Amino acid sequence: MSQYDVAVIGSGPGGYVAAIRCAQLGMKTAIIEKYSTLGGTCLNVGCIPSKALLDSSHHYESAEKHFEDHGIEIPGDVKLNLKKMIARKQAVVDQTTAGIEFLMKKNNIKVYSGFGSFKDATHIMISGDETFEIEAKNTIIATGSKPATLPFIEIDKERIITSTEALKLKEIPKHLIIIGGGVIGLELGQVYRRIGAEVSVIEYMDRIIPTMDAGLSKELNKVLKKQKFKMNVSHKVKSVERVGDKVIVKADNKKGEEVTFKGDYCLVSVGRRPFTDGLNVEAAGVKLNEKGQVEVNEHLQTSVSNIYAIGDVIKGAMLAHKAEEEGVFVAEIIAGQKPHIDYNLIPGVVYTWPEVASVGKTEEQLKEAGVDYKVGQFPMRALGRSRASMDLDGFVKILADKTTDEILGVHIVGARAADMIAEAVVAMEYRASAEDISRMSHAHPTFTEAIKEAALAATENRPLHI
Ligand code: FAD
Ligand code: NAD
Repeated sequence: MSQYDVAVIGSGPGGYVAAIRCAQLGMKTAIIEKYSTLGGTCLNVGCIPSKALLDSSHHYESAEKHFEDHGIEIPGDVKLNLKKMIARKQAVVDQTTAGIEFLMKKNNIKVYSGFGSFKDATHIMISGDETFEIEAKNTIIATGSKPATLPFIEIDKERIITSTEALKLKEIPKHLIIIGGGVIGLELGQVYRRIGAEVSVIEYMDRIIPTMDAGLSKELNKVLKKQKFKMNVSHKVKSVERVGDKVIVKADNKKGEEVTFKGDYCLVSVGRRPFTDGLNVEAAGVKLNEKGQVEVNEHLQTSVSNIYAIGDVIKGAMLAHKAEEEGVFVAEIIAGQKPHIDYNLIPGVVYTWPEVASVGKTEEQLKEAGVDYKVGQFPMRALGRSRASMDLDGFVKILADKTTDEILGVHIVGARAADMIAEAVVAMEYRASAEDISRMSHAHPTFTEAIKEAALAATENRPLHI
């Protein structure tokens, strides 16, 4: 029987990064993956394919709507080849997942293709072409998550779909009904809106992206409405029915009135659930909590001391970079080091256009905690860079402690917000004040000048360009 210092179950961004770090630290490491490609949700059916489609559809929209303003004329109509767009996405995925295989080889990590399940706390059964057992001193559970649904919805994967099917549709929906105005709904909704679908979003809460700062929700809602998204917040979906090639969704609005939506596709994007099906955690003595997540302590150690868990299968934000941080963290804990993760500084991004990015506390959280804070906000449209590229929507909002000026939260809607948020993460990691940022040179013309201006507004209410 093969023996390892560490066995990692699941090869998503949590699992494969954990395996690499374990190998770097000199541990004999194996990784077990049930699918034929490595990389998990993120690389196969999540972050990477969704961004590939967002980029393609963004180009299409630019060619169709904005090239003319730039003086670029296309003789005839701009046409979309959906099959080619989906094939390009798949090529990006294939290249990226192959890259993980290369990294496993480079780091001498043994890859087992098969389904892993616990026999006991130190033995894992692997079922693939054949079934066999390996022994591991330590195991890292990195089995990720699957799309969640509502009890009365039957996902048929043809017309009533999850994000996985939405990444490979064979036709452009005429009317895509999206249940859930969170990250997946808005990102994939924008893909199909740009290429011609009518898109209706049905959200249970009173605003889209409800976990982010309310100012971001409001601004994104405004911009998406301009893009002709049909937004239905405060709507409680009560039935989803497929009738031939149509889908009928019924919901109650705020006043309790029934509203009927008729479309040809319905994307269910109401969150994801931790995935531990078939893992047989009980055999190892690992406990799950009431949400089905693997329960862990502050060292990400489960109820069994040599078994750890990371990523979407445990509590916290379901984000690839959070899973990666936890992968490194656990590897270093096993190696006897004392790593640290500041969960407050894990940024969140929505890759719509304009992008939405956020780190630290929201205004709502600061109010609830009774923190005395001040706000510095600067609109993107006041930047020369924004006018040059015609990306005028959005703003940067900096929340700082009223007494100490320490930055407590940064919230951005705007072009390239996803990349800009890194400056805020660095600043907050070093506990910078708003004044610190306001005194640093920001290249001109860039979108990041809005961060400096918002910092000036937060410090002494003296932005320079508004
Ligand atoms: P996963 O990536 O889910 O990987 C778990 C792996 O474990 C899977 O490959 C699974 O097959 C395998 N597995 C499970 N059980 C077993 C078993 N018993 N034996 C063997 N193998 C097993 N996050 C971002 O940060 N940025 C984004 O832009 C982003 N976009 C997304 C877009 C979409 C459409 C979706 C669905 C998600 C997106 N996410 C994004 C979330 C991100 O994909 C997840 O947070 C991330 O993949 C979690 O990583 P993980 O390693 O915990 O689990
Ligand atoms: P989400 O939690 O972002 O959004 C789900 C939305 O559905 C919420 O707004 C919620 O209020 C709403 N909802 C829940 N029940 C509902 C109901 N009965 N009727 C109507 N609306 C309802 O989840 P998601 O968009 O499915 O994404 C899943 C996970 O994947 C998220 O946790 C996210 O972190 C991750 N993800 C991240 C990215 C990114 O980082 N850019 C992209 C896609 C997915």
